[in-house]
Amino acid sequence: MLKTNWDEAVKNLKSKYIPVGKLDLYNEDLEFWKKSGLFYYPYLLINLQLIDKNRKELGINDDVFLLNDSGGFQVISGTCNYDWEQSLKQQLKIGSTKIFAFDKPPLIKKSETSNSEFLLMDYETTKKCILENIDVALKQSAYLKQHNPDRVKDFYYIMHGSSKELLDFNLVELAKRIGNLDENYREYFGGVCYSVKVDGTDFIGLTTFSLHANEHFIKKDLPVHMLGLGSLYRMIIMIRNKITTFDAATALTGVTYWNYINNINLTKGSSFIGDFNKEYWPHQSMMCDCPVCSKYDFNELIKNEPKKVGLYIFIHNVYQMARFNIFLDSIDLKEYTKVVKIFCDIPDKLKQALDYCDYADKVGFENAYKKFRHYQNTDKTKQGSLF
Ligand SMILES: [Zn+2]
Repeated sequence: MLKTNWDEAVKNLKSKYIPVGKLDLYNEDLEFWKKSGLFYYPYLLINLQLIDKNRKELGINDDVFLLNDSGGFQVISGTCNYDWEQSLKQQLKIGSTKIFAFDKPPLIKKSETSNSEFLLMDYETTKKCILENIDVALKQSAYLKQHNPDRVKDFYYIMHGSSKELLDFNLVELAKRIGNLDENYREYFGGVCYSVKVDGTDFIGLTTFSLHANEHFIKKDLPVHMLGLGSLYRMIIMIRNKITTFDAATALTGVTYWNYINNINLTKGSSFIGDFNKEYWPHQSMMCDCPVCSKYDFNELIKNEPKKVGLYIFIHNVYQMARFNIFLDSIDLKEYTKVVKIFCDIPDKLKQALDYCDYADKVGFENAYKKFRHYQNTDKTKQGSLF
C-alpha cells in the first residue's frame, strides 16, 4: 500500500482503534503518532498518571487524537487518589481530545493485596454506584460550562453496567435529572463512553452493548468510545456497529510478554499477543511485511538491544491492528457479515453475533435483543461471581 493511501485511509476511518501506548520508545522511527515515524497512525491513549505536561511539550501535535482515562479505575485499584476536579483539570492541562467523566467503576477489589483482580458489585450496589457517577458527571459538566464552555462538546459521560437493564438504568436516571435526552443531552455532554465488562468470548453480550450504543448515541450523531475493547475479534463487532473509537492495550502487551518470557525486569504478564520468544530465534526470514519488520532485523535487535525488542513488537502489533481496522472499516455494512465470514477465521459465536447485528437492522434493536439475549453469557452481577 502506498504511504499516501495509508495516511488517507487512516484519516477517514469511521471507527478507530486507539492504541493504549507509552511515550518513551527510544527510537523516533517507532513514534507512529508523528509524521516522521515509520508509519503514521495519529491515535493514542496514555494513562492519565503518566503525563504531567501539556501535549505540545511532549511533541503530540494537534492532529493526534489523544485520550487519557479519567483515573477513576486507578483510584479504586489504589494506585492514585485523584478526585473529580483533579481528574478534569489534568485532562484539560494535557489537552486531551476528549474528556472522560470521573467514574468509579462498579468493582470491588478481590483482596487488599492485589491491584489487578476485581469482583463485580452486585446488582443493587451497581445501581447506587451508577447514581453516584451521574452526580459527579453532572458536577463536572457544570464546572466545564463555567470555566471551559468550549470543551463541553468534548465531555463524555461514562456508562457502567454489565447488562442491558443496567445500561438502560443509566439513561432513565440521567433523563430524570436533565430531562429528555434527545433534546438536552448535548447541553451537558458531547458523547459517551461505554465501560462494560464482558467475558472475552461473550461476543453476543458485547454485541448487545454495541447495538445499545449505536441505537441511543451513534444514530443521534453522538460519538461513542468503548473502553478497553480491542482484540481483533472484538474489533469486528466495534466496526460493524460504527462505534466511533475504541481502545485496546493488546498491542502493548507485546512488550510485557517479551519481557516476561525472557526474564527481563520480570513483571507480571497475564496476557500477550504473538508467540515471540528468544528461544525461537534466529528467524531465517523476515517476520512480516510491516514497516517495522521490513526495516529492523530482529536477530540483530536481540543481540544488541534485547531489553528494547518488546517495543518493536509493540509497534509491529499496532501496525497490524491498524491495518485490520482499515480493512474492516472499508467493507460495506450490507456485505460485512458475508465478507468477514469469508476472509476472517472466526469462532461460531462471533458469526452468530454478526447475524444478531443484521437482524437488528431488520427488526430493530429491542426485538433483536429479545431473540438473542439467551445466547449471552449469564449476567454476573446477579450471581456475584468473578470475572
Ligand atoms: Zn511486522
